[in-house]
Amino acid sequence: DMYKRLPEPPAGTARRAFAVLTSGGDSQGMNAAVRAIVRVALYNYCDAYAIYEGYVGLVNGGSFIKKMGWGDVSGILSQGGTVIGTARCAEFRDYPGRLKAALNLLERGINNLIVIGGDGSLTGADLFKREWPQYLKDLLQQKAISEELAQRLSYINIVGLVGSIDNDLCGTDNTIGADTALKRIVESIDSISSTAASHQRSFVLEVMGRNCGYLALMAAIASGADWTFIPEQPHGDDWRVAMCDELKRNRERGRRMSLVIMAEGARDRSGTPITAEQVKQAIDSTLHHDTRITVLGHVQRGGAPTVYDRVLGTVCGARAVQYLLHNAGQVRPVVMGVSGSKYITIPLMESIALTQSVPVAIKSKEFARAVELRGPGFVSDVCLLHQLNSADPTHRHVGTRPFKIAIACVGAPASGMNSAIRAAVLAAVDSLHTVIGYHDGFDGIAKGEFEELTWLSVSQLADKGGCVLGTNRSAPNIGQVATSLQKHAVDALILIGGFEAYTGALALVRARSANPALRIPILCLPATISNNVPGTEMSVGSDTALNAIVTCIDTIKQSATSSRARVFVIETHGGNCGYLPVTSALAAGAERAYTPEEGISLSTLVTDLQHFQRRFSEGANCAVIVRGEKASSTYTTPVIEAILGEESRQLFTCRSNVLGHLQQGFTPSPIDRISSVKFAVQCVTTIVSECNRALDATTNTVQVAGSEAAFMVGLKGVGITLTPLEELVEHSDFKLRVPKAQLWTEANLLLHVLGKYDYYNDAK
Ligand code: ATP
Repeated sequence: DMYKRLPEPPAGTARRAFAVLTSGGDSQGMNAAVRAIVRVALYNYCDAYAIYEGYVGLVNGGSFIKKMGWGDVSGILSQGGTVIGTARCAEFRDYPGRLKAALNLLERGINNLIVIGGDGSLTGADLFKREWPQYLKDLLQQKAISEELAQRLSYINIVGLVGSIDNDLCGTDNTIGADTALKRIVESIDSISSTAASHQRSFVLEVMGRNCGYLALMAAIASGADWTFIPEQPHGDDWRVAMCDELKRNRERGRRMSLVIMAEGARDRSGTPITAEQVKQAIDSTLHHDTRITVLGHVQRGGAPTVYDRVLGTVCGARAVQYLLHNAGQVRPVVMGVSGSKYITIPLMESIALTQSVPVAIKSKEFARAVELRGPGFVSDVCLLHQLNSADPTHRHVGTRPFKIAIACVGAPASGMNSAIRAAVLAAVDSLHTVIGYHDGFDGIAKGEFEELTWLSVSQLADKGGCVLGTNRSAPNIGQVATSLQKHAVDALILIGGFEAYTGALALVRARSANPALRIPILCLPATISNNVPGTEMSVGSDTALNAIVTCIDTIKQSATSSRARVFVIETHGGNCGYLPVTSALAAGAERAYTPEEGISLSTLVTDLQHFQRRFSEGANCAVIVRGEKASSTYTTPVIEAILGEESRQLFTCRSNVLGHLQQGFTPSPIDRISSVKFAVQCVTTIVSECNRALDATTNTVQVAGSEAAFMVGLKGVGITLTPLEELVEHSDFKLRVPKAQLWTEANLLLHVLGKYDYYNDAK
């Protein structure tokens, strides 16, 4: 019932009015939020206003404040920046400016304001709310407003959405725009890396982040940079020596390039800024590399928003309106944020106070506190980076003896599998363990086809899509797999893949009693575009797939602007899981998603047909249905195309596209690269501790008991989880190959609202 429509107010009563503005620096995904705010307000019989140019428009009023219709926010999801403009406004900082702003809202009956911006914009909004009673008093005295109006709008409610590429607001794990900025950075690193490796150059890359190292930190984890500077945790005074030692060590291991990533606010422990030029000079003078500097600047703010940012903007925007609609009366200002994959509401001023205490902590050299203030996700990401960059032999821990870890990939390829292989190998060899990679899944293990994976052989894999080891769907031949693992003296196995990897691993674990060679730690690393693996909220590869799908839909929708009046039926992968069709539909602005869980019936098609007839007779020129490949065995994509085309009453034509293997994407997205690294490092850490624990002193072999040491690595919130495979069984639907509980239901409800679907169907 989350997005259930409120009843229509009786005729003659004033409608509630919502206004939205974007302020401070622009960020990708702001448009998605504006679209959702306007549409959810209209859907609930409220007036929706857009305030153009941020607080400048609020202060100036007039044509800066525009009443919005449904179609005014069409076609903006795929655009970067903010179509309603943003600005910095000195006048709003002073009382007279804010008083003018208040009058502009009162004149239009608006007392619900949603501000999308950074901490400055949200601080201004909070002040505006606190001063509201004073504005009313002053305006009444000036006779600028009536007593009735002052009573009716005796308070203003504020909700903040954080639009910031820096991801610098404490209390939320992510801000609207940060993922797209990270994508631009990672794409730039991919481009730089190929030229750098060709010439054996070193690059110093400066990314945005005055007080926040999020972009630099995540870019370093995603790309495997050699050295990173973040403001929250400066290196020691000897950073030049330590950095050059690290770069030298990696070159000696065979790496053909070096990459240093620095946040623009990089400084040393005494607070003195470190410039890219100083870093270059240190590398030049010590290592005599050919070193270049790239400052990415505004490139990071550009381009189409990623799926993550579109969904974050959309859901936070919709939730902001819902929050104000369902909380009667005056409410404390809040921010719509996110904790892992859960949407949360946080008190606005508390989160701003925490945010503003980060630079204070940095200035007073409380670096551990600065990192902590950024939240538990940031803390663990900083630890992860340290772990990845501890190639220094003095950091190495061997434990009882080096172990031999085998990796195999199972199921269909997913972008990020290579990045997972790379991270697992780096983490293992840095602790002196060895890694072999079996080719082509369980078949390759059975046939004994493998290669040794070394630091150098995997060092360039972070940005490669597909799977270098090869992967296939076959279930394991238990006897042959056990024989092979024994022959190659494998101490632990990492299976990278989707549902097949999980069921295959389970089969191996259940055969342990008859096969001593299988009594080794077995870890599943979830990687599948369908995101249908139990025990994790996110599988490696699904974010890349979503972005590939949405890029295709953007392109297909664009074609409709020339061909006019067209319904597209787009078929996606995803097996029996509705995650891909629903999430991509929400991010691409599609009208409908057909999922295997809900199926398709004749009555669905009739309702949808009427929906399209109505929309196209009102002047729509494009509509999209995203159909999951297994939504129905009868109403296939060609059948739906034919039915809609036949019954369109010449209002539109219908075409279909089956996206097929395009969905695997070319290079992995930052989200997939980062989760693959986190999962892989967790696999290796767990394996090493389990192997040490289960090492039989007499035989010197690893012997785990029963179903011990068999885990699915996963993501829950921002935390990495390890769930025993046997525990997952009761949460798995083995027939449909999906987890019993899924996360995309809210997205599906919202899709109906934003596609104007329920708008019509409720009205009937
Ligand atoms: P970014 O993170 O991109 O810098 P921001 O929202 O922090 O975004 P600011 O320039 O700090 O950007 O603020 C944007 C606008 O918000 C200012 O131009 C001003 O109009 C308003 N504003 C900021 N701080 C205050 C304040 N303390 N009181 C009143 N208004 C403010």
